Amino acid sequence: MRVKAETYIIQCDRCKNEILPGNPHACDKQNDFCWECGFVEGKLTEKEYLKHSGFALSNIRAWVEDGKINIKFGKYTPEELRIRRNKRARERYKQKKNTRGE
Ligand SMILES: [Zn+2]
Repeated sequence: MRVKAETYIIQCDRCKNEILPGNPHACDKQNDFCWECGFVEGKLTEKEYLKHSGFALSNIRAWVEDGKINIKFGKYTPEELRIRRNKRARERYKQKKNTRGE
């Protein structure tokens, strides 16, 4: 939501914080999100999020759980990988269902 057009201050539609000029943010047709919320809302990929968050390390992971961003150094544990795989499979299944119109 652009609240003060004349000064180009953008407000995040999720956490209502102002997004300062020059700070990275995510937007789609209707909404503006700060960087964190953009990731939570799925507007940014994990790679994009980390790239502009000051994490220059390659073996760092970020994911969203219950609306909160989790950041972890190092590789995923097998258990974490299993959870992520299952979640993706469920999302794919849901998408397929939607396109079939069920
Ligand atoms: Zn936000």
